[in-house]
Amino acid sequence: MTSPRPRPEVLQISPYVGGEATLEGMNRVYKLSSNEGAFGVPPGAQDAYRRLAGELYRYPDGSALDLRRAIGARFGLDPARIVCGSGSDDLIYQLCLAYGGPGRDILMTEHGFSIYHIAGTYAGSRVIKTPERNLTADVDAILAAVSPSIRLCFLANPNNPTGSMLPYEEVARLRAGLPQEVLLVLDAAYAEYVERPDYDPGIRLVNATDNTVMTRTFSKIFGLGGMRIGWAYGPPAVIDVFNRVRPPFNVSIAAQGAAIAALAEPGWVEKGRAHNSEYRPKLAAALTAVGIKVWPSEGNFVLADFATADRAAAADAHMRRRGVIARQVGGYGLPQCLRITVGNVEEVQVVIDALAEFMTEPGS
Ligand SMILES: *Cc1c(COP(=O)(O)O)cnc(C)c1O
Repeated sequence: MTSPRPRPEVLQISPYVGGEATLEGMNRVYKLSSNEGAFGVPPGAQDAYRRLAGELYRYPDGSALDLRRAIGARFGLDPARIVCGSGSDDLIYQLCLAYGGPGRDILMTEHGFSIYHIAGTYAGSRVIKTPERNLTADVDAILAAVSPSIRLCFLANPNNPTGSMLPYEEVARLRAGLPQEVLLVLDAAYAEYVERPDYDPGIRLVNATDNTVMTRTFSKIFGLGGMRIGWAYGPPAVIDVFNRVRPPFNVSIAAQGAAIAALAEPGWVEKGRAHNSEYRPKLAAALTAVGIKVWPSEGNFVLADFATADRAAAADAHMRRRGVIARQVGGYGLPQCLRITVGNVEEVQVVIDALAEFMTEPGS
């Protein structure tokens, strides 16, 4: 018997491992494994979701026009150059399938976001990882890896799981050094958290070139990871490609309504950003004070470095006994590290207490 088989490269893909959500035998769990916003779902988005329940027999607006208008108004962008997706992952897949493929290869950095590797391999591309420097993308190393087969280059800025970012000047230098026919994808999932003045999420380069696209998400600061909404801003030709290949109803009625309401929630982003700017340094300083190395981060998470994989595993086990779920990042080539979301005030304190206790344990 021969059974149906996919293209061989499909079976080379390791399934995406998301942050865990439950712990056996624990009733109070602190889930700090997926970088979800610290304040839950915006109240207006919850109202919109309930209000839309009676509309769900209708197909959604496949062009998500009202949502694109709301995004455009919020960020000062032309709605005609925006496309929405079922999370930004959806849009990353579409880009890989449309611009990648056999003989059309993809660049990403060593510890870059794993979806690029999964979606690129699925498309049939070779996905080439370039070395980083201090867990930060290295523009020279990316440019050195360019060859005639490269068609796409992904850069998460800031990157997950490292938290590192490139300033605008470096991203512009990357763009200038890449061949014209390479589409540069700037994944700015954490843009709203960044406070450095030398940062640009990608809008400037999208406006200045015709081969750069920016992806964004409602899954992080906007608190809607469970609704699955992301968007991309790009040149008209790239938006045209998206609209040919994406599933026509890829954003549900509930998701569109919730996202519009989240954008309208007064002070929501400011509150999330202010909390993060206060508590990320507090978390980092407290961990540093007990002897844990913490990498600089521009996102709503920190990367704690325990020097060895065994030590990271022990720290993880200790946190789990206290109900804290962090994210193991061995799959990102960082087995000595754990990524920990900056949660609410209580959650941050629970992490600090658990890791302080771990570091002072006899034999630790
Ligand atoms: C969380 C995250 C995303 C968002 O994915 P969605 O599919 O929009 O939920 C994209 N890129 C990076 C780097 C992320 O960390």
